[in-house]
Amino acid sequence: MDETRALGRTDLRVKRIGFGANAVGGHNLFPNLNDETGKELIRTALDGGVNFIDTAFIYGLGRSEELIGEVVAERGVRDSLVIASKGAHKEVNGQIELDNSREFLRSEAEKSLKRLKTDVIDLYYVHFPDGKTPLAEVAGTLKELKDEGKIRAIGASNLSFRQLQEFNADGYLEVFQSEYSLIQREAEKDLLPYCEKNGISFIPYFPLASGLLTGKFTKDTVFEDSRKNRPPFQGEAFQQNLERVDKLKAVAEEKGVPAAHIALAWLLSQPAVDAIIPGAKRPDQLKHNLGALDVQLTEDEVQYISDIFK
Ligand code: NAP
Repeated sequence: MDETRALGRTDLRVKRIGFGANAVGGHNLFPNLNDETGKELIRTALDGGVNFIDTAFIYGLGRSEELIGEVVAERGVRDSLVIASKGAHKEVNGQIELDNSREFLRSEAEKSLKRLKTDVIDLYYVHFPDGKTPLAEVAGTLKELKDEGKIRAIGASNLSFRQLQEFNADGYLEVFQSEYSLIQREAEKDLLPYCEKNGISFIPYFPLASGLLTGKFTKDTVFEDSRKNRPPFQGEAFQQNLERVDKLKAVAEEKGVPAAHIALAWLLSQPAVDAIIPGAKRPDQLKHNLGALDVQLTEDEVQYISDIFK
């Protein structure tokens, strides 16, 4: 399915399944990554028709952006892509801090441009609030970058509902990114309705709940990365999630498609979710996830699946 959607009120059009590139060069986030596989992931995304790639400074402290920049230059496809990046993290004496100041974000955007080997970033997000810079002012900094032609669209991520409204006080926000999947539904309360009402695209992160919704984990799975410390993968919550995923697998079986496709198609059926950016560690995972574009869910199926995870 080749459908595209506009990001917010912009004229940037994206295919509905993009690629989240935190495992491309994200050596600080995941163990045992290698750069060649990272580049292969980007090539696989391009070959699969993906035109929306999501990265950030913090994915390898610039390494993800560099690897994407290399492959995009090698293929000569810059103009056909919508590349999103994010800034706010600052390395100070080996420690990571957050900074949303105008000076910092402007200099970070310049560095991202260089690493991505481009003269404009299609979508630039403030990755996290720093807890001190007024958010309307942060939006103003991104508006300035947009007016100067350094970025094409304004994004924000990881804001509470109150912060989201504060950021959007002047109506500049075009894309909001936050955690959302069948497993994590909090965004449905205020964030999604606000985005829908205000014409802001909502891009969910952890769309597969970090692999949980593929149905590949069992009670005996041992996690070796940050999943081992995250609530959905611990104790009773993990058991309960596995039981729900079993029910999702039954729906998938009935439709003759894999569970991951159902989980992703369900997200694509939610209002304001114009596109999703599942991540992958291996090219076969990425290819597999693109298959979700062919899955159509009826209203009854969407409701039934929602209820499994309520
Ligand atoms: P995700 O999409 O929920 O899960 C991706 C992980 O699931 C992969 O790395 C892989 O991990 C596993 N997986 C993916 N496809 C699979 C398949 N077909 N079969 C089996 N396993 C599969 O989580 P995510 O990648 O962390 O999040 C998506 C994107 O959102 C990121 O890449 C990043 O661009 C963005 N993000 C943004 C923020 C933010 O603060 N704004 C935060 C997190 C992520 P294993 O093989 O190791 O199981």
